[in-house]
Amino acid sequence: MAYFDKVWTDEFISAGSQIIQRPHQNNGHPLLQQGYLGNKLFFGGTETATQSPGYKEGAVVSAKELVKKVKL
Ligand SMILES: Cc1cc2nc3c(=O)[nH]c(=O)nc-3n(C[C@H](O)[C@H](O)[C@H](O)COP(=O)(O)OP(=O)(O)OC[C@H]3O[C@@H](n4cnc5c(N)ncnc54)[C@H](O)[C@@H]3O)c2cc1C
Repeated sequence: MAYFDKVWTDEFISAGSQIIQRPHQNNGHPLLQQGYLGNKLFFGGTETATQSPGYKEGAVVSAKELVKKVKL
């Protein structure tokens, strides 16, 4: 019945009214490095990595860090 097209790089957005987080904004955030529920819950995956987050290398970095944490 209707079609709406949105150009996400329009003036509203490019003027600084960012409504979508740019990629990799919170990658490696300190809150993602902590253990929760008495160190029974940890976050992993490339988005949690402090190096190369968002990439395959970040997934490996994150996995290595997780192994250290669960071995404590
Ligand atoms: C199109 C595209 C191109 C890319 N190109 C590159 C590139 O050229 N170079 C590069 O370095 N990186 C690239 N990346 C990024 C790279 O693929 C990722 O950073 C990496 O695969 C992330 O690994 P991960 O182990 O953190 O997560 P993932 O690979 O996403 O693995 C997560 C796994 O968890 C599983 N899962 C999810 N929810 C549950 C659940 N509830 N229970 C059980 N399992 C679950 C999923 O099925 C998946 O197998 C690309 C990504 C995309 C999408």
